[in-house]
Amino acid sequence: MELKLYNTLSKQKEVFKPINDDKVRMYSCGPTVYYYAHIGNLRTYLFMDNLRRVLKYNGYNLLHAMNITDVGHLVSDADEGEDKMAVAAKRENKDPYEIAEFYTNRFMEDLKKLNIGKPEIICKATEHIKEMEEYVLQIIKNGYTYETENTIYFDTSKLDKYGLLSNIKVEEQKAGARVDFDKEKKNVTDFALWIKAPENHIMKWDTFWGKCYPGWHIECSAMGRKYLGDHFDIHTGGIDHIPIHHENEIAQSKGCTGKIPATFWMHSEFLLIDGGKMSKSLNNVYTISDLEAKGFSAMDYRMFNFTSHYRNKLNFTWDSLESAKIALNRLKEGYQKHEEGTKQVSNEKIEEYKNKFNEAINDDLNMPLAMSVVWEVIKENDKSKQYAELLRKFDEVLGLKIDEKNEIDLPEEVKELVEERKLARENKDWAKSDELRDRIVQMGYFVKDTKNGMEITK
Ligand code: AMP
Ligand code: ZN
Repeated sequence: MELKLYNTLSKQKEVFKPINDDKVRMYSCGPTVYYYAHIGNLRTYLFMDNLRRVLKYNGYNLLHAMNITDVGHLVSDADEGEDKMAVAAKRENKDPYEIAEFYTNRFMEDLKKLNIGKPEIICKATEHIKEMEEYVLQIIKNGYTYETENTIYFDTSKLDKYGLLSNIKVEEQKAGARVDFDKEKKNVTDFALWIKAPENHIMKWDTFWGKCYPGWHIECSAMGRKYLGDHFDIHTGGIDHIPIHHENEIAQSKGCTGKIPATFWMHSEFLLIDGGKMSKSLNNVYTISDLEAKGFSAMDYRMFNFTSHYRNKLNFTWDSLESAKIALNRLKEGYQKHEEGTKQVSNEKIEEYKNKFNEAINDDLNMPLAMSVVWEVIKENDKSKQYAELLRKFDEVLGLKIDEKNEIDLPEEVKELVEERKLARENKDWAKSDELRDRIVQMGYFVKDTKNGMEITK
Protein backbone atom coordinates (compact mmCIF):
# COMPACT_ATOMS: atom_id res chain seq x y z
CA MET A 1 0.00 0.00 0.00
CA GLU A 2 1.24 3.50 -0.88
CA LEU A 3 2.39 5.73 1.95
CA LYS A 4 1.48 9.35 1.42
CA LEU A 5 3.08 12.13 3.44
CA TYR A 6 2.47 15.85 3.38
CA ASN A 7 5.53 17.71 2.21
CA THR A 8 5.79 21.33 3.37
CA LEU A 9 8.17 21.95 0.47
CA SER A 10 5.67 21.03 -2.26
CA LYS A 11 2.62 21.90 -0.10
CA GLN A 12 0.90 18.66 -0.97
CA LYS A 13 0.70 15.03 -0.04
CA GLU A 14 3.19 12.98 -2.01
CA VAL A 15 3.78 9.26 -2.33
CA PHE A 16 6.79 8.47 -0.18
CA LYS A 17 9.68 6.63 -1.77
CA PRO A 18 13.06 6.55 -0.08
CA ILE A 19 16.18 7.59 -1.98
CA ASN A 20 17.78 4.21 -1.18
CA ASP A 21 15.43 1.27 -1.01
CA ASP A 22 17.05 -0.35 2.01
CA LYS A 23 16.89 2.53 4.45
CA VAL A 24 14.97 5.70 5.24
CA ARG A 25 17.28 8.47 6.38
CA MET A 26 15.59 11.04 8.54
CA TYR A 27 16.61 14.04 10.65
CA SER A 28 14.60 15.61 13.47
CA CYS A 29 15.36 18.92 15.11
CA GLY A 30 15.81 18.06 18.74
CA PRO A 31 15.34 19.99 21.96
CA THR A 32 17.24 22.97 23.25
CA VAL A 33 18.27 21.62 26.63
CA TYR A 34 18.03 24.74 28.77
CA TYR A 35 14.89 23.73 30.63
CA TYR A 36 12.32 20.95 31.03
CA ALA A 37 10.48 20.04 27.84
CA HIS A 38 6.84 21.11 28.08
CA ILE A 39 3.94 19.07 26.75
CA GLY A 40 3.85 21.24 23.59
CA ASN A 41 7.46 20.34 22.78
CA LEU A 42 6.59 16.73 23.48
CA ARG A 43 3.72 16.80 20.99
CA THR A 44 6.36 17.41 18.32
CA TYR A 45 8.34 14.35 19.48
CA LEU A 46 5.19 12.24 19.63
CA PHE A 47 4.67 13.17 15.98
CA MET A 48 8.29 12.19 15.26
CA ASP A 49 7.67 8.85 16.95
CA ASN A 50 4.43 8.33 15.06
CA LEU A 51 6.27 8.83 11.79
CA ARG A 52 9.05 6.44 12.86
CA ARG A 53 6.48 3.78 13.72
CA VAL A 54 4.47 4.21 10.51
CA LEU A 55 7.64 3.92 8.43
CA LYS A 56 8.65 0.76 10.30
CA TYR A 57 5.11 -0.65 9.96
CA ASN A 58 5.53 -0.17 6.22
CA GLY A 59 8.64 -2.34 6.37
CA TYR A 60 11.34 0.33 6.18
CA ASN A 61 14.59 0.31 8.12
CA LEU A 62 15.45 3.62 9.66
CA LEU A 63 18.55 5.68 10.10
CA HIS A 64 17.23 8.57 12.11
CA ALA A 65 19.28 11.35 13.68
CA MET A 66 18.13 13.87 16.26
CA ASN A 67 20.26 16.67 17.60
CA ILE A 68 20.52 18.05 21.09
CA THR A 69 20.94 21.82 20.94
CA ASP A 70 23.34 22.68 23.73
CA VAL A 71 24.76 25.85 22.23
CA GLY A 72 23.85 28.62 19.80
CA HIS A 73 20.03 28.83 20.09
CA LEU A 74 19.42 32.45 20.96
CA VAL A 75 16.40 33.68 22.87
CA SER A 76 14.78 34.61 19.57
CA ASP A 77 14.94 32.06 16.75
CA ALA A 78 16.70 34.74 14.69
CA ASP A 79 19.99 36.33 15.70
CA GLU A 80 18.84 38.24 18.72
CA GLY A 81 19.18 37.88 22.46
CA GLU A 82 21.42 35.76 24.59
CA ASP A 83 22.17 32.07 24.09
CA LYS A 84 19.44 30.12 25.91
CA MET A 85 22.12 27.97 27.56
CA ALA A 86 23.82 31.06 28.99
CA VAL A 87 20.49 32.31 30.35
CA ALA A 88 19.95 28.95 32.08
CA ALA A 89 23.52 28.85 33.41
CA LYS A 90 22.97 32.24 35.05
CA ARG A 91 19.51 31.30 36.32
CA GLU A 92 20.79 28.17 38.01
CA ASN A 93 24.30 29.36 38.73
CA LYS A 94 25.74 26.29 37.02
CA ASP A 95 28.09 25.42 34.23
CA PRO A 96 26.21 25.26 30.86
CA TYR A 97 27.44 21.71 30.30
CA GLU A 98 25.91 20.67 33.61
CA ILE A 99 22.66 22.33 32.59
CA ALA A 100 22.73 20.54 29.24
CA GLU A 101 23.39 17.17 30.82
CA PHE A 102 20.65 17.58 33.39
CA TYR A 103 17.92 18.63 30.94
CA THR A 104 19.03 16.14 28.28
CA ASN A 105 18.58 13.37 30.84
CA ARG A 106 15.16 14.70 31.86
CA PHE A 107 14.16 14.89 28.18
CA MET A 108 15.25 11.29 27.61
CA GLU A 109 13.20 10.21 30.64
CA ASP A 110 10.15 11.95 29.15
CA LEU A 111 10.67 10.16 25.83
CA LYS A 112 10.85 6.84 27.66
CA LYS A 113 7.69 7.53 29.68
CA LEU A 114 5.88 8.49 26.48
CA ASN A 115 7.13 5.33 24.77
CA ILE A 116 8.80 7.42 22.07
CA GLY A 117 11.32 5.38 20.07
CA LYS A 118 14.86 6.66 20.41
CA PRO A 119 16.41 7.84 17.14
CA GLU A 120 19.34 5.68 16.05
CA ILE A 121 21.68 8.68 16.35
CA ILE A 122 21.50 11.37 19.00
CA CYS A 123 24.07 14.08 18.42
CA LYS A 124 25.04 17.08 20.49
CA ALA A 125 25.90 20.41 18.90
CA THR A 126 28.90 21.00 21.20
CA GLU A 127 30.47 17.74 20.04
CA HIS A 128 30.33 18.81 16.39
CA ILE A 129 32.02 22.20 16.36
CA LYS A 130 34.68 20.93 13.93
CA GLU A 131 32.04 19.71 11.45
CA MET A 132 30.22 23.03 11.69
CA GLU A 133 33.42 24.96 11.13
CA GLU A 134 34.21 22.92 8.00
CA TYR A 135 30.66 23.46 6.76
CA VAL A 136 30.95 27.23 7.21
CA LEU A 137 34.38 27.30 5.52
CA GLN A 138 32.86 25.56 2.50
CA ILE A 139 30.06 28.12 2.32
CA ILE A 140 32.63 30.91 2.52
CA LYS A 141 34.63 29.24 -0.27
CA ASN A 142 31.51 29.01 -2.42
CA GLY A 143 30.98 32.77 -2.04
CA TYR A 144 27.73 32.89 -0.06
CA THR A 145 28.91 34.89 2.93
CA TYR A 146 30.08 38.29 4.08
CA GLU A 147 31.88 39.29 7.19
CA THR A 148 30.96 42.09 9.57
CA GLU A 149 32.71 43.18 12.72
CA ASN A 150 31.35 40.31 14.80
CA THR A 151 29.58 37.89 12.51
CA ILE A 152 29.89 35.83 9.39
CA TYR A 153 26.53 36.16 7.72
CA PHE A 154 24.92 34.01 5.09
CA ASP A 155 24.05 36.27 2.17
CA THR A 156 20.57 35.13 1.15
CA SER A 157 20.53 37.41 -1.90
CA LYS A 158 23.12 35.11 -3.50
CA LEU A 159 20.57 32.29 -3.75
CA ASP A 160 18.31 31.89 -6.76
CA LYS A 161 15.43 31.90 -4.26
CA TYR A 162 15.23 32.18 -0.49
CA GLY A 163 12.09 31.10 1.35
CA LEU A 164 11.16 27.86 -0.42
CA LEU A 165 9.28 26.41 2.53
CA SER A 166 7.33 29.38 3.74
CA ASN A 167 7.13 31.32 0.47
CA ILE A 168 8.03 34.46 2.37
CA LYS A 169 8.17 37.59 0.31
CA VAL A 170 11.58 39.09 0.94
CA GLU A 171 10.36 42.50 -0.25
CA GLU A 172 7.58 42.52 2.37
CA GLN A 173 10.05 41.49 5.03
CA LYS A 174 12.24 44.45 4.15
CA ALA A 175 9.34 46.84 4.51
CA GLY A 176 8.39 45.37 7.88
CA ALA A 177 11.93 45.20 9.23
CA ARG A 178 12.40 46.53 12.71
CA VAL A 179 14.33 49.77 13.21
CA ASP A 180 16.96 48.13 15.37
CA PHE A 181 17.82 45.74 12.53
CA ASP A 182 21.59 45.10 12.54
CA LYS A 183 23.01 47.90 10.42
CA GLU A 184 25.74 45.68 9.03
CA LYS A 185 23.31 43.06 7.80
CA LYS A 186 22.75 43.45 4.07
CA ASN A 187 19.39 41.69 3.73
CA VAL A 188 16.73 41.20 6.34
CA THR A 189 16.72 37.44 5.77
CA ASP A 190 20.51 37.05 6.16
CA PHE A 191 21.47 35.07 9.23
CA ALA A 192 24.53 34.37 11.37
CA LEU A 193 26.65 31.35 10.56
CA TRP A 194 29.55 32.04 12.87
CA ILE A 195 29.76 34.60 15.61
CA LYS A 196 32.81 36.18 17.20
CA ALA A 197 32.46 35.67 20.93
CA PRO A 198 32.61 38.71 23.17
CA GLU A 199 35.11 38.53 26.06
CA ASN A 200 32.51 37.35 28.61
CA HIS A 201 30.69 34.89 26.31
CA ILE A 202 30.19 31.65 28.14
CA MET A 203 30.61 28.98 25.41
CA LYS A 204 33.21 29.61 22.71
CA TRP A 205 35.77 27.69 20.71
CA ASP A 206 39.10 28.43 19.00
CA THR A 207 38.29 28.36 15.32
CA PHE A 208 39.52 29.80 12.03
CA TRP A 209 38.21 33.17 13.11
CA GLY A 210 39.43 33.29 16.69
CA LYS A 211 37.17 32.55 19.67
CA CYS A 212 33.75 31.95 18.18
CA TYR A 213 30.48 30.17 18.65
CA PRO A 214 28.16 28.79 15.97
CA GLY A 215 24.80 30.11 14.84
CA TRP A 216 21.90 27.81 15.72
CA HIS A 217 20.97 26.67 12.21
CA ILE A 218 24.40 25.44 11.22
CA GLU A 219 24.37 22.59 13.73
CA CYS A 220 21.49 20.79 12.04
CA SER A 221 23.01 21.18 8.57
CA ALA A 222 26.43 19.96 9.70
CA MET A 223 25.19 17.01 11.74
CA GLY A 224 22.55 16.04 9.18
CA ARG A 225 25.28 15.92 6.53
CA LYS A 226 27.68 13.97 8.72
CA TYR A 227 25.23 11.22 9.67
CA LEU A 228 22.82 11.11 6.74
CA GLY A 229 24.70 12.53 3.76
CA ASP A 230 24.12 15.55 1.51
CA HIS A 231 20.64 14.46 0.57
CA PHE A 232 18.40 12.36 2.78
CA ASP A 233 14.70 11.47 2.87
CA ILE A 234 12.86 13.33 5.62
CA HIS A 235 13.44 16.32 7.85
CA THR A 236 11.04 16.98 10.74
CA GLY A 237 10.33 19.68 13.30
CA GLY A 238 7.64 21.85 14.82
CA ILE A 239 5.73 24.26 12.62
CA ASP A 240 7.61 27.24 14.09
CA HIS A 241 10.76 25.96 12.38
CA ILE A 242 9.36 26.57 8.90
CA PRO A 243 9.98 30.32 8.47
CA ILE A 244 13.46 30.68 9.99
CA HIS A 245 15.31 27.58 11.12
CA HIS A 246 14.44 25.31 8.22
CA GLU A 247 14.59 28.05 5.59
CA ASN A 248 18.08 28.78 6.83
CA GLU A 249 19.07 25.12 6.83
CA ILE A 250 17.99 24.91 3.20
CA ALA A 251 19.87 28.13 2.36
CA GLN A 252 23.07 26.87 4.03
CA SER A 253 22.91 23.51 2.34
CA LYS A 254 22.44 25.14 -1.04
CA GLY A 255 25.42 27.33 -0.22
CA CYS A 256 27.56 24.39 0.86
CA THR A 257 26.54 21.38 -1.24
CA GLY A 258 24.26 22.99 -3.81
CA LYS A 259 21.40 20.75 -2.65
CA ILE A 260 18.23 20.98 -0.59
CA PRO A 261 19.20 18.49 2.13
CA ALA A 262 15.95 16.52 2.39
CA THR A 263 13.22 15.43 -0.01
CA PHE A 264 10.35 15.61 2.50
CA TRP A 265 9.95 18.40 5.09
CA MET A 266 7.37 17.55 7.70
CA HIS A 267 6.08 19.79 10.47
CA SER A 268 3.69 19.25 13.34
CA GLU A 269 1.26 21.90 14.50
CA PHE A 270 1.28 23.49 17.92
CA LEU A 271 -0.38 22.39 21.11
CA LEU A 272 -2.60 25.07 22.61
CA ILE A 273 -3.63 25.28 26.24
CA ASP A 274 -7.24 26.21 26.93
CA GLY A 275 -7.40 27.51 23.38
CA GLY A 276 -4.42 29.82 23.75
CA LYS A 277 -0.65 29.87 23.83
CA MET A 278 1.39 28.33 26.56
CA SER A 279 3.08 30.98 28.55
CA LYS A 280 4.92 31.35 31.82
CA SER A 281 2.86 34.42 32.72
CA LEU A 282 -0.36 32.39 32.42
CA ASN A 283 1.25 29.66 34.50
CA ASN A 284 0.15 27.05 31.98
CA VAL A 285 3.47 25.64 30.79
CA TYR A 286 2.98 22.05 31.85
CA THR A 287 5.53 19.25 31.95
CA ILE A 288 5.00 15.50 32.26
CA SER A 289 5.69 15.83 36.01
CA ASP A 290 2.85 18.35 36.26
CA LEU A 291 0.51 15.84 34.63
CA GLU A 292 1.75 13.11 36.94
CA ALA A 293 1.17 15.30 39.99
CA LYS A 294 -2.49 15.45 38.97
CA GLY A 295 -2.75 11.67 38.66
CA PHE A 296 -2.22 11.32 34.91
CA SER A 297 0.42 9.23 33.21
CA ALA A 298 2.58 10.13 30.23
CA MET A 299 0.70 7.41 28.34
CA ASP A 300 -2.59 9.24 28.98
CA TYR A 301 -1.00 12.23 27.25
CA ARG A 302 0.14 9.99 24.39
CA MET A 303 -3.45 8.77 24.00
CA PHE A 304 -4.73 12.37 24.06
CA ASN A 305 -2.46 13.24 21.12
CA PHE A 306 -4.28 10.78 18.87
CA THR A 307 -7.40 12.95 19.05
CA SER A 308 -6.01 15.33 16.45
CA HIS A 309 -4.12 15.07 13.19
CA TYR A 310 -0.52 16.24 13.54
CA ARG A 311 -1.10 19.08 11.04
CA ASN A 312 -3.99 20.47 13.10
CA LYS A 313 -3.73 22.47 16.26
CA LEU A 314 -4.51 20.46 19.38
CA ASN A 315 -6.16 22.09 22.36
CA PHE A 316 -5.14 20.79 25.78
CA THR A 317 -7.55 20.97 28.70
CA TRP A 318 -7.49 18.91 31.87
CA ASP A 319 -10.96 17.58 30.97
CA SER A 320 -9.77 16.32 27.61
CA LEU A 321 -6.81 14.63 29.29
CA GLU A 322 -9.24 12.98 31.72
CA SER A 323 -11.26 11.71 28.74
CA ALA A 324 -8.09 10.32 27.17
CA LYS A 325 -7.21 8.55 30.40
CA ILE A 326 -10.66 6.94 30.57
CA ALA A 327 -10.45 6.00 26.89
CA LEU A 328 -7.04 4.38 27.35
CA ASN A 329 -8.38 2.29 30.23
CA ARG A 330 -11.36 1.22 28.13
CA LEU A 331 -9.07 0.34 25.28
CA LYS A 332 -6.98 -1.90 27.50
CA GLU A 333 -10.06 -3.51 29.03
CA GLY A 334 -11.50 -4.05 25.55
CA TYR A 335 -8.25 -5.66 24.47
CA GLN A 336 -8.29 -8.00 27.50
CA LYS A 337 -11.84 -9.10 26.67
CA HIS A 338 -10.69 -10.14 23.20
CA GLU A 339 -7.63 -11.79 24.69
CA GLU A 340 -9.89 -13.90 26.90
CA GLY A 341 -12.37 -14.53 24.06
CA THR A 342 -12.94 -17.86 22.37
CA LYS A 343 -14.79 -16.92 19.17
CA GLN A 344 -13.37 -17.67 15.74
CA VAL A 345 -13.66 -14.86 13.17
CA SER A 346 -13.04 -14.96 9.44
CA ASN A 347 -9.70 -13.96 7.96
CA GLU A 348 -11.58 -11.62 5.59
CA LYS A 349 -12.90 -9.67 8.55
CA ILE A 350 -9.38 -9.33 9.99
CA GLU A 351 -7.98 -8.28 6.61
CA GLU A 352 -10.75 -5.73 6.20
CA TYR A 353 -9.85 -4.06 9.48
CA LYS A 354 -6.15 -4.25 8.69
CA ASN A 355 -6.71 -2.50 5.36
CA LYS A 356 -8.81 0.23 6.92
CA PHE A 357 -6.17 0.86 9.56
CA ASN A 358 -3.35 0.84 7.00
CA GLU A 359 -5.23 3.23 4.74
CA ALA A 360 -5.65 5.67 7.62
CA ILE A 361 -2.05 5.66 8.83
CA ASN A 362 -0.69 5.74 5.27
CA ASP A 363 -2.80 8.77 4.47
CA ASP A 364 -0.34 11.20 6.04
CA LEU A 365 -0.60 9.62 9.49
CA ASN A 366 -4.33 10.08 9.98
CA MET A 367 -4.34 8.85 13.56
CA PRO A 368 -7.85 10.01 14.54
CA LEU A 369 -9.19 7.86 11.68
CA ALA A 370 -6.89 4.97 12.60
CA MET A 371 -8.17 5.18 16.19
CA SER A 372 -11.76 4.91 14.98
CA VAL A 373 -10.82 1.59 13.34
CA VAL A 374 -9.21 0.46 16.60
CA TRP A 375 -12.45 1.24 18.47
CA GLU A 376 -14.49 -0.71 15.91
CA VAL A 377 -12.34 -3.76 16.64
CA ILE A 378 -12.59 -3.21 20.40
CA LYS A 379 -16.38 -3.00 20.19
CA GLU A 380 -16.81 -6.19 18.16
CA ASN A 381 -19.34 -8.36 19.98
CA ASP A 382 -17.51 -11.54 19.08
CA LYS A 383 -14.66 -11.67 21.55
CA SER A 384 -11.75 -13.29 19.79
CA LYS A 385 -8.03 -13.82 20.30
CA GLN A 386 -7.62 -13.00 16.60
CA TYR A 387 -8.84 -9.48 17.33
CA ALA A 388 -6.44 -9.29 20.26
CA GLU A 389 -3.61 -10.24 17.92
CA LEU A 390 -4.76 -7.63 15.41
CA LEU A 391 -4.82 -4.97 18.14
CA ARG A 392 -1.27 -5.90 19.16
CA LYS A 393 -0.25 -5.40 15.52
CA PHE A 394 -1.94 -1.96 15.46
CA ASP A 395 -0.17 -1.14 18.68
CA GLU A 396 3.16 -1.26 16.82
CA VAL A 397 1.99 2.10 15.46
CA LEU A 398 0.02 3.32 18.46
CA GLY A 399 2.69 2.49 21.03
CA LEU A 400 0.04 2.48 23.76
CA LYS A 401 1.22 -0.80 25.33
CA ILE A 402 -2.33 -1.99 24.88
CA ASP A 403 -1.51 -5.43 26.32
CA GLU A 404 0.01 -4.08 29.52
CA LYS A 405 -2.34 -3.85 32.43
CA ASN A 406 -2.48 -0.51 34.16
CA GLU A 407 -0.63 -0.44 37.40
CA ILE A 408 -2.76 1.61 39.68
CA ASP A 409 -1.41 3.49 42.59
CA LEU A 410 -3.42 2.12 45.52
CA PRO A 411 -3.88 4.07 48.74
CA GLU A 412 -2.06 2.53 51.74
CA GLU A 413 -5.32 1.31 53.39
CA VAL A 414 -6.38 -0.50 50.22
CA LYS A 415 -2.93 -2.06 49.85
CA GLU A 416 -3.18 -3.42 53.40
CA LEU A 417 -6.61 -4.93 52.73
CA VAL A 418 -5.32 -6.51 49.51
CA GLU A 419 -2.41 -8.09 51.39
CA GLU A 420 -4.76 -9.36 54.15
CA ARG A 421 -7.08 -10.82 51.51
CA LYS A 422 -4.19 -12.59 49.80
CA LEU A 423 -3.34 -14.22 53.12
CA ALA A 424 -6.97 -15.18 53.76
CA ARG A 425 -7.15 -16.84 50.34
CA GLU A 426 -3.89 -18.70 50.91
CA ASN A 427 -5.46 -19.99 54.14
CA LYS A 428 -8.65 -20.84 52.24
CA ASP A 429 -10.60 -18.60 54.60
CA TRP A 430 -13.28 -17.74 52.04
CA ALA A 431 -15.59 -15.94 54.44
CA LYS A 432 -12.81 -13.55 55.44
CA SER A 433 -11.77 -13.18 51.78
CA ASP A 434 -15.34 -12.16 50.85
CA GLU A 435 -15.58 -9.75 53.72
CA LEU A 436 -12.27 -8.09 52.74
CA ARG A 437 -13.39 -7.90 49.11
CA ASP A 438 -16.53 -6.03 50.18
CA ARG A 439 -14.45 -3.59 52.17
CA ILE A 440 -12.15 -2.95 49.18
CA VAL A 441 -15.22 -2.40 46.95
CA GLN A 442 -16.60 0.07 49.45
CA MET A 443 -13.39 2.04 49.07
CA GLY A 444 -14.05 2.42 45.35
CA TYR A 445 -12.10 -0.49 43.81
CA PHE A 446 -13.17 -3.58 41.89
CA VAL A 447 -11.65 -6.91 42.78
CA LYS A 448 -11.35 -9.68 40.24
CA ASP A 449 -9.82 -13.06 41.01
CA THR A 450 -7.96 -14.45 38.03
CA LYS A 451 -5.62 -17.41 37.59
CA ASN A 452 -2.71 -14.93 37.95
CA GLY A 453 -4.04 -13.57 41.24
CA MET A 454 -6.09 -10.57 42.27
CA GLU A 455 -6.71 -7.75 39.81
CA ILE A 456 -7.72 -4.42 41.27
CA THR A 457 -9.25 -1.66 39.17
CA LYS A 458 -10.63 1.67 40.17
P1 AMP B 1 12.96 23.82 21.56
O1 AMP B 1 13.43 22.90 22.65
O2 AMP B 1 12.54 25.15 22.08
O3 AMP B 1 13.98 23.91 20.45
O4 AMP B 1 11.65 23.18 20.96
C1 AMP B 1 11.59 21.82 20.68
C2 AMP B 1 10.47 21.53 19.70
O5 AMP B 1 9.22 21.83 20.27
C3 AMP B 1 10.56 22.34 18.42
O6 AMP B 1 10.47 21.43 17.31
C4 AMP B 1 9.36 23.25 18.46
O7 AMP B 1 8.84 23.43 17.19
C5 AMP B 1 8.40 22.46 19.31
N1 AMP B 1 7.38 23.25 20.02
C6 AMP B 1 7.53 24.36 20.76
N2 AMP B 1 6.36 24.80 21.27
C7 AMP B 1 5.41 23.92 20.86
C8 AMP B 1 3.98 23.79 21.04
N3 AMP B 1 3.28 24.63 21.77
N4 AMP B 1 3.37 22.74 20.44
C9 AMP B 1 4.05 21.85 19.70
N5 AMP B 1 5.38 21.90 19.49
C10 AMP B 1 6.06 22.92 20.06
ZN1 ZN C 1 17.31 21.96 13.59
